[in-house]
Amino acid sequence: MGKKKNHKMFIFTAPSGSGKTTVVRHLLNKYNFLDFSVSATSREKRPHEVEGKDYYFLSEEEFRTKIDEGAFLEWEEVYDNQFYGTLKSEVDRVWEAGKHMVFDIEVNGATNLKKMYGDQALAVFIKVPSFMELVKRLKSRKTESPSSLKKRIKRIKRELTYEESFDTVLINDKLEVTLQEAENIVCQFIGMRKESAE
Ligand code: ADP
Ligand code: 5GP
Repeated sequence: MGKKKNHKMFIFTAPSGSGKTTVVRHLLNKYNFLDFSVSATSREKRPHEVEGKDYYFLSEEEFRTKIDEGAFLEWEEVYDNQFYGTLKSEVDRVWEAGKHMVFDIEVNGATNLKKMYGDQALAVFIKVPSFMELVKRLKSRKTESPSSLKKRIKRIKRELTYEESFDTVLINDKLEVTLQEAENIVCQFIGMRKESAE
């Protein structure tokens, strides 16, 4: 895992349902100088998700083996028996391809990565205008069972208190505005004029 200074990281973090996936997918489609840090997880694959693109889907046992092998840069048991982690090999893969890395990661992992990479990383907290709106969006995504939704809502309350720990807060109210602002944040951090990045 190199630390060459021209390689950057964009760490998008927020409680579940805030819009991380939406923002990150937009940026990856728009800018080919970015690539996604594909995390490993032991949670079940959602129907539309693709192995190796959205996540590397592992069994809990496979995940624990990788922890023992020291394969992770960071990992968290985000929900009971549901593990998520960044493989060290992802940083090599993306940086060796000459791209800047984009993360979609919960708040503890984001804090750890920011500590590890300092000024090379920009940590962006995505914020939905209200708790009620956030819960509404999470429900409208229709990906969670009632018990999974309950676990996520419980965690949201704690994660919302992390806002001030990150470099920038991106308010996700009107989506078009959010996406424009996300583009501005990326271009500014790598010192590129937005017009020349397109
Ligand atoms: P996360 O990755 O943080 O869990 P998602 O990107 O999956 O969040 O967004 C949660 C849900 O909210 C999705 O159904 C998404 O389409 C929707 N969404 C995202 N941004 C907005 C927005 N600005 N206004 C309304 N709905 C949104
Ligand atoms: P989801 O199940 O909705 O895809 O993800 C649940 C939470 O785990 C989200 O907040 C997501 O950002 C986070 N997450 C995804 N990958 C990683 C990772 O590699 N490390 C950590 N710490 N969190 C992750």
